[in-house]
Amino acid sequence: MAAAEQLDDEALVERMSHVSVDHDSKAFYLGWLERELRLNRCADCARWHHPPRPMCPACWSWNVEPTPVRGRGTVHLRMLLHQGPPAPGVDYTQGPHPVVVVELEEQPGLRYTSTIVGCSAAEVRIGMPVELTWIERHGAPFPVFQPAGRG
Ligand SMILES: [Zn+2]
Repeated sequence: MAAAEQLDDEALVERMSHVSVDHDSKAFYLGWLERELRLNRCADCARWHHPPRPMCPACWSWNVEPTPVRGRGTVHLRMLLHQGPPAPGVDYTQGPHPVVVVELEEQPGLRYTSTIVGCSAAEVRIGMPVELTWIERHGAPFPVFQPAGRG
C-alpha cells in the first residue's frame, strides 16, 4: 500500500469520507493516516493554531507548516454526552460518552478536542495529564486521549 503522503486529493477524500477534507485541512487528515497529530505552526512567529487556517492568526503570516505535536497535555474541559451523533464504538445507552478539551503542552491555549479512552468517564478530572493515542474509526486512525503513562 502506498504511504499516506502519496495519496492524491481524490484518494484522500475517499479514504476520509467521514470527515470534511478541504485544502486547509488536507495535511491535518493525512497526518491521521500516519498516526501523527499535525497542527499548523507559524514558521515566522512559531505560534501554533488549530483548527487549520492558511494564515497565522498571531502575525498574519502565510508561512504556516503542519507540524506534529507530542500529544501530551492536560484536561482543560470535560463534557459527558448522554446523547449525540452516532459514532462507531460509541453507545450512549452504556453510560455517558466523555469528550475532553485538552490543552497541549506545546503552547498555552493550544487545545484539541476528542474523546478519552482507558478510564471511565467518571475518572476524568480537570487538570489530569493525558497523552494522545489512536483508535480506529471508519477504517482509519482517529486521535483520542488516554491517561498519561498508561500507554
Ligand atoms: Zn505567526
